[in-house]
Amino acid sequence: MTAVVDTAWEMVVGLEVHCELSTATKLFCGCRNAFGDVPNTNICPVCLGLPGSLPVVNRRAVEYAMRIGEALHCTVEPSIFHRKNYFYPDMPKDYQVSQYDLPINVRGWLDLPDGSRVGVTRAHMEEDTGKTTHVGGGGRIHEAGYALVDYNRAGVPLVEIVSDPDIRSPDQARAYVSELRAVLEAIDVSDVKMEEGSLRVDANVSVRRAGSDEFGTRAEIKNLNSLRSLQRALEYEFRRQIGLLEAGQSIVQETRHWNEEEGRTASMRSKEEAYDYRYFPEPDLVPVEPSEAWRSEVRSSLPPLPAERRAALAAEAGSSSTADVAVVVERGLDTLVRAAIAVGADPERVVTHAVHNLAVEGAEHLDARRFASLVKLETDGKLTATQAKKVLSEMLERGGDPADIAAALGFEAMDESALAAVVDQLIADNPAEFDRLKSGDHKVMGFFVGQAMKATQGKADGKVVTALLRERASS
Ligand SMILES: [Zn+2]
Repeated sequence: MTAVVDTAWEMVVGLEVHCELSTATKLFCGCRNAFGDVPNTNICPVCLGLPGSLPVVNRRAVEYAMRIGEALHCTVEPSIFHRKNYFYPDMPKDYQVSQYDLPINVRGWLDLPDGSRVGVTRAHMEEDTGKTTHVGGGGRIHEAGYALVDYNRAGVPLVEIVSDPDIRSPDQARAYVSELRAVLEAIDVSDVKMEEGSLRVDANVSVRRAGSDEFGTRAEIKNLNSLRSLQRALEYEFRRQIGLLEAGQSIVQETRHWNEEEGRTASMRSKEEAYDYRYFPEPDLVPVEPSEAWRSEVRSSLPPLPAERRAALAAEAGSSSTADVAVVVERGLDTLVRAAIAVGADPERVVTHAVHNLAVEGAEHLDARRFASLVKLETDGKLTATQAKKVLSEMLERGGDPADIAAALGFEAMDESALAAVVDQLIADNPAEFDRLKSGDHKVMGFFVGQAMKATQGKADGKVVTALLRERASS
């Protein structure tokens, strides 16, 4: 990851994240909402916009949109649908049904693992368009021989989540999308697969002199299909805009396309203004006015969100780092970790194991009591860190009690007096090395620890060996 460091300029970014909802059917008709089906099989007169057909809003899609609003601390408000008029062959109606000045969710926020907060301007409902494939010419529209259109996606429910321009770096943008994805996954409204287009990101980017409160002219970057693309595009765009301004030129407000292979953005078209779309209220749909009872039902049905889970774990995880706590929650291991801590296992050791030794599928099903017993064997000095790791991997693969596994692996407790005898023998066998240790050359410590491991077939605790040697060298 390369950080963008330019003390004279500041990056200002707002993100628009389109999230495809995982409802069974589309937003205004009963057609199946599914990715990868045979083209043009999930279609009907409504989603094809045939004359005389009438849309009916999908109640489940409204509920999912409300879940998103509640999870992002938005106010859920009465809303209406608008027609956004523009021509594109993958949109059979020549307008997209969206929400305009009265969206369902307004004014919320998202807290990131690093403690920063990004405001959410709005999160509104709209329908997705179909999909056009340009054939020939490497998929580029102007070189293609012909185009194919698939309307299966036309009318799939989307929620567009628009952030405030609070993001200041590519890393923060990436963290925002990761966190948003984790929230959407937790509340079960989307499969959040960026590679299948379930989550699509557009970025509004501008720069300004460090210390300025004014906003510069922004460019909107499209086609950010992965976190890596988002990060690279922002880095590129930041440098491009600074280069123009420092050369005395100005930034053009426009829509730009991210080219992943070339690693740069290119101008697509001048940015549309709202009046270009001739928005007007959709006359075929009634306003969406969820009752307070429905809203509170949705609110109380939300599971604990990642930020709450991080806070709960951090409160119990001793001096574990914020980053480690975030990793544990991201892997869904916080329930296991908190249960192990609750029965008395050392918090930092438990978190360390979760971060370094439990990055495997199914680790969350580990028995918390047995996990805690293993950590206790280690903190009581009955197992070395290396042995504990081996026992843990055995527990993950085959299950079982950690003490039994340790015994089966031959990891019997090596008491300190037995280890002291080994250390004394090593000193007797290696007088020259011991003299160097006494004279303060601590590089030979590794040699002695290695010899002790060899002599005990790895059963010695390196920390105890080091302590014994220090004691003898200083006396
Ligand atoms: Zn349909």
